[in-house]
Amino acid sequence: MIAQKFVILTRNIKVSDRRKSCGRLNILSSTSALRTSVADVIRRPQVPVQGGPHGCCDGRIIYFIFLLIFQLAAASINSEQLSQPLAIYERELYRGDVLKVFIFPQKPLQELTARVLDGSGEPVVKGKGFALGEIEGNNTWCLLLGLPNYLEAQEYGLEISGRSRQAAALSGEGFSYHGSIVVKHKAFISEKIFLDEELTDLRSVFDPRKQEESEYLWNILTTFNSDAIFHEESFKLPLGETRRSGNYGDRRTFQYSDGGSALSCHQGIDFAVPEGTPVAACGSGSVALACYRIITGNTIVLEHLPGLYSIYYHLSSLSVNQGDYVENGDILGKVGNSGLATGPHLHWEVRVSGVAVNPECFTCESIIDKSNIISIIRETIEIEGR
Ligand SMILES: [Zn+2]
Repeated sequence: MIAQKFVILTRNIKVSDRRKSCGRLNILSSTSALRTSVADVIRRPQVPVQGGPHGCCDGRIIYFIFLLIFQLAAASINSEQLSQPLAIYERELYRGDVLKVFIFPQKPLQELTARVLDGSGEPVVKGKGFALGEIEGNNTWCLLLGLPNYLEAQEYGLEISGRSRQAAALSGEGFSYHGSIVVKHKAFISEKIFLDEELTDLRSVFDPRKQEESEYLWNILTTFNSDAIFHEESFKLPLGETRRSGNYGDRRTFQYSDGGSALSCHQGIDFAVPEGTPVAACGSGSVALACYRIITGNTIVLEHLPGLYSIYYHLSSLSVNQGDYVENGDILGKVGNSGLATGPHLHWEVRVSGVAVNPECFTCESIIDKSNIISIIRETIEIEGR
């Protein structure tokens, strides 16, 4: 897909001298919008973008914005600051999608952070990056940001900051970039779910244990272990049977047996399958949680990448323990209706730094698609040797 959009420039990459020369990059493209000088790219950040109407897996045309900053920013950067590295990200996404940012720093980084800012400059999402090692000789970092499904469709600021390992000794050694993304509207289904007296009590009656369990889970989902690199490929669905009884982002109204009601947003996908159906890990990872919870019943949480977790609720039995390592496809337990469930089903959810995202963002394409990154490097960037 990328190859169709950009000029292939492999012959211009100086393989043997790549690292030495990566301080000076040019952006060339076959598209008229990108057939510009670097200055034009920076001055006109809103490259025309096309997108499909249905979300991340429906063949929308992926555009990456190439940000080559060091030349323009040179005037305001002193000699001790890092050269602004190349950053690549997809600029137009739907709410519920995952924004992936790839950075190619010239010096080893200690920290990479990003924030998505609303019109008043308030952060709506924050995230950290992690090192991927070298790709095509380029030191590469990745940053995943989950875009909440309640975001208004509009343009948002994107602030990316990095700090080198020497930053403690040399104050100010780092880089920051201020860009933008466009979050597009995505419609979600509204539905009513009627709860009997028992489930009404389960959901609505205050119980300090529920609060405790909620805080415990939140602490896990917002834990960022920078060395937790377990799975970079696409996720597989946790069940062979894919009949769904609930979708990501469903706006739900719980109708209580006493006439009351409560609004809720469904944060995962529900698969309605018979009790006892085996549930498989959607990817390799570490078992961060395997226990019974009041609302979600038998629950498993897997850590796949720094800040990236998959969640499995309402199981009838658990086959793994906290601290285990599981391979992609390993059986985690069996489908049940434990906790707040109106029938046997699996609730499957994916979180990025605590934000519930559309799990299908990860089922159709690799989470870290190194071959695509290599294609981008090869096809779109001409590295000028010095
Ligand atoms: Zn569910």
